[in-house]
Amino acid sequence: MRTIVLLFTRDLRVVDNPMLATSCAVADRVVPLFVVDPAIEASPIRRRFLAESLTDLRESLRTLGGDLLVREGEPAEVAATVAAEAGTNQVAITADVSAYAKSREERLRERGLEVRAFPGVTVVPAGKVRPSGGGDHYKVFTPYWRAWEATTWRDLAEAPKSVTLPDGMTGDDPRVILGDTSPSTLMPGGEQAAHERLDAWAPRAGDYPDLHDALGEDGTSRLSPYLHFGCVSPLALATDPRVHPAFVRQLCWRDFYHQVLAGFPRLGSEAYRPGVVEDWTDDPAAFESWKAGETGVEVVDAGMRQLLAEGWMHNRARMITANYLTKTLGLDWRRGAAWFAERLLDADVANNNGNWQWVAGTGNDSKPYRRFNPVRQQARFDPEGDYVRRWLG
Ligand code: FAD
Repeated sequence: MRTIVLLFTRDLRVVDNPMLATSCAVADRVVPLFVVDPAIEASPIRRRFLAESLTDLRESLRTLGGDLLVREGEPAEVAATVAAEAGTNQVAITADVSAYAKSREERLRERGLEVRAFPGVTVVPAGKVRPSGGGDHYKVFTPYWRAWEATTWRDLAEAPKSVTLPDGMTGDDPRVILGDTSPSTLMPGGEQAAHERLDAWAPRAGDYPDLHDALGEDGTSRLSPYLHFGCVSPLALATDPRVHPAFVRQLCWRDFYHQVLAGFPRLGSEAYRPGVVEDWTDDPAAFESWKAGETGVEVVDAGMRQLLAEGWMHNRARMITANYLTKTLGLDWRRGAAWFAERLLDADVANNNGNWQWVAGTGNDSKPYRRFNPVRQQARFDPEGDYVRRWLG
């Protein structure tokens, strides 16, 4: 009898989860497992989102006849223990690109486990398309986008019909480890919440090109936290007939930064652009004012206060606030990226650092000296002042 431990990570869904679908098809028994990893720091709002997402995943698995084990510890060690309890050495995982994710997969193998990695974190797996001129990843977006669109995408994986655990194995309530979270009113975690969010946004999806930069409209999907935790499949979104090609292009940016991180694991600490000279100022007071949304520059402060209040910020505001920190205050992008990572619900090693480097001029931008005038940005993207009023009162 074949049994596979399914080590869930950033793939907290049952629809289009290739790891879950294939494993349930080939094995007699599966052991869905999530390991809360103390090495990954999570703010209270992220822990709540994670707890909600795991609770939702557990409910879906139970509906299919299975359950979800939730443990705490070093993931490879816990997975090995659970595999031994289940009488198997086979583990399935969704492949991911950060140095930490790769070392986690390596640690599973070092424990003698037979590991099979599946796609699902991005639309196109990192490394699937490579520049014809050589190199393991694309450094510039537009050629990547062309190759990304032209390559064959895998078929969507259906949710399994049933999930069968080994006899005697039972699941756990995620809130026991993650804390008893009261349901959030803003962006609740989980696959069901992701689909509700998508359905609610879908009527505006066709207007994405006009809406996505308009700060006051709040017209973007707000699906980024769900994409980060894998509550929704990026491939399912990219092939959803309701979304606009301009939205699919943004999903391609997400894939782009994932393949950049796969090829350049030090994206969070080192300038990506070779030979770039970094000359940052040290001004703790200016940094604190920026963090608190008290710089005196309206649109910058509005963005920073949205981040504090919601754990999310509009993309245009992220660009303006990051540009202000690096280009106007002259402060190191790493400090800004660390603050975003601490506060954002969607904080992501690839997207956060990739975008910060892009704004700071150390990354994949073809115009690294781009400097925004925040007053002009506000006039252009918040002409009626709705966004600024919403956050500054
Ligand atoms: P939509 O406009 O609805 O776009 C759909 C999806 O496309 C997003 O959910 C996201 O997954 C992807 N996407 C959109 N824009 C980008 C982009 N520029 N780069 C990569 N993917 C993109 N995004 C994160 O997911 N995590 C981060 O930690 C993060 N940090 C950022 C830091 C800075 C300084 C900047 C300028 C941008 C950052 N972004 C990050 C990208 C972008 O701001 C967010 O993805 C977007 O605001 C999320 O809102 P949405 O889901 O409504 O986006």
